Formats: sequence, C-alpha cells, structure tokens
Amino acid sequence: MRALVYHGRNDIRLEEIPVPEIGPGEARIRVTNTSICATDIEEWKYGPTYITFTPTVMGHEVAGRVVEIAPDASGLAVGDRVMVDNVIVCGVCYWCRSGSQATCPNMEVAGLGRDGGLAEFMTWPADHLIKLPDTVKDDEAPLIEPATVALHAVRRSGVRVGDQVAVIGIGTVGALTLQAFKAAGAVVYAVDIRESSLQMAARLGADQVIDASRGDAGDHLRDLTDGIGPDIVVETAGAARTPLDAFDWVRRAGTVVLVGIYAVKPEADFNVIVGKELRVIGSVAAGTGDMAAAVRLVAEREIRLSELVSDRISLGRVIPDGFERMAAESKEVFRILVSPDA
Ligand SMILES: [Zn+2]
Ligand SMILES: [Zn+2]
Repeated sequence: MRALVYHGRNDIRLEEIPVPEIGPGEARIRVTNTSICATDIEEWKYGPTYITFTPTVMGHEVAGRVVEIAPDASGLAVGDRVMVDNVIVCGVCYWCRSGSQATCPNMEVAGLGRDGGLAEFMTWPADHLIKLPDTVKDDEAPLIEPATVALHAVRRSGVRVGDQVAVIGIGTVGALTLQAFKAAGAVVYAVDIRESSLQMAARLGADQVIDASRGDAGDHLRDLTDGIGPDIVVETAGAARTPLDAFDWVRRAGTVVLVGIYAVKPEADFNVIVGKELRVIGSVAAGTGDMAAAVRLVAEREIRLSELVSDRISLGRVIPDGFERMAAESKEVFRILVSPDA
C-alpha cells in the first residue's frame, strides 16, 4: 500500500509498504480521509518532537471503514464507519488513575508514536475506534480529532454558562474552541489579525470578532466586558507575544488557557500572573472520553467541521499539495483532507 513515511527532519517520503497485520484486539480500517495538522508540519520541519520512532507512518486525524477485525475484538462490524481515537493511554499510571489521562507518560499517539493514517490502511485497537453516526460525513470526520483538542481545553478551563471568553487565534483549533465554548453556553469573542480567520469566526457564531491589527484588542475586550476583561482567555495562536496578551487582557482573578505550541519561546512577566491572581492552565491533546463527546457535538451540529476543510487532495499528491502548502508562510488554509481514493 502507499503511505507517507517520516524518516526524520526534512525527510518524508510517499512509499510502497506492506499492508499492516492486525494484532490481538485490533481492527484494520481502509482509510477514507486523513487531515494534515500543523503538528505534522512541525515534525517535518523541526522534529522529531513527539515522534518516538522512525520510520513511522504519519497522520493522526483519521477516519475510515472497518475491513477486518481480530477474533478477540468486539463491538465492531466489518463496514462500520469509524473515527480513530488516536490517543492510547496506559490506564495504570498515577495520572491515568487520577483522571489526567492527557498527561500519561506512557501515551501512544497515532502518526507520532504508532503508525498513523496517511496511508491506504491502518490497524488500531478496536476499542479505540469510535463508530460515526450517519450525520457525520466521511469528508469532515477527521476534524473530530482537533475538535477533541478544543473540547479538552474547554473542559480544562472550568467555563460556566454565561462566562465571557476570548479566543486568541482562529486557526483550526481556535475555530473549534470557539464553537465548543458556544456549545458550553459562553459568550465568545474571537481575536485574530487575518481577514480569513475573522470571517470564519463570524460564520461560526462568534459574538464579536476583533481585528487585533487595528487598534488595541485589549481595550476592545474591556469595552465589551464593563471594563474588567473576559473571565477566560484561551491562547491558540502559539506566537511569542500572544500569551502575554492573554495575561494582559483577562480580568483579575481570571483564567488563561494555553493551547498553542510555542516555536518561539515567549518572555513572560510573571508578576502579572501573581499580581492579578491568574489561573494559568496548560491543555494538550485530549483525555479519555473527550473524543466520544466531540462526536456527539458534531453529530448534533453544535460543532461544524466542514467549513474548516479548505481543500481535498489525493494521497499521491500529499507532499506537494498538502505538506508544502501547509508549510507556506502565507497559507490561507485551515485543514487539507487527504484521501487514498481521490
Ligand atoms: Zn493534530
Ligand atoms: Zn497512564
């Protein structure tokens, strides 16, 4: 079968490799679509950061159809449409047993620690394949994975109905975070500097859209919140100054959730955290149950994914039309879907 294989920094290859064998408790899926994530691009250009072995098949946002099931696996049938719950935790370490599965040190992730889905076939534990309701279409399903990251951040924030929330950075994860906060009953202000992102935020239901390239976004947010600032600010942009903006803009005794991955290390003034008694929370990947919840919200159309699909390409063109385009400086894309059938 064809697969996109990571060999090392600046070395990814579309190769012919054997179809993977199924092990105990596993199922094999025929991949329908996989989306390319910014993490994939970072691994390619600057990694390996999360990738734990090479060569490895890339792709962690994957949907497919079940084609074979190990005799000891249950709960699935051949032909089922499924989403790959890409994070496998050990279930027995201190963190798994105390409810923070997202920080399990023994975690394995599709496309990063185990072979992923930028390929024609993929094998995965059957109990980590989530059946898709009919209302979730094949050509949007992979975006359930970044939606899971968004949902996890929303849960970590401790948001309450009616809270005022600012989301900094409306890329894919920001756009999904915005929607997940709306689903949780928050009032959401979207902050970005790109016209396409601001338009996307407005389409997806942001209560206010703030262009940070015009005027002071912090002043604008204070105007919207009786002069005190939002209860929660979520940082998804991953730029050097955006976490500092978050500390600045959030109200005193408010909550900042950091979701971005910082390529350039921000220089923070910790006195602002102390002086304002901020709660600063990191949120990474997702924990047990987050993906099943994301599937439900997508099925109910509380979270819309299809708007975030910027392009659809074939696996044969994954490097020039997918990775190279995502890596471009001025990319005007959210997610690119890759299909072995296209
Ligand atoms: Zn991702
Ligand atoms: Zn664990």
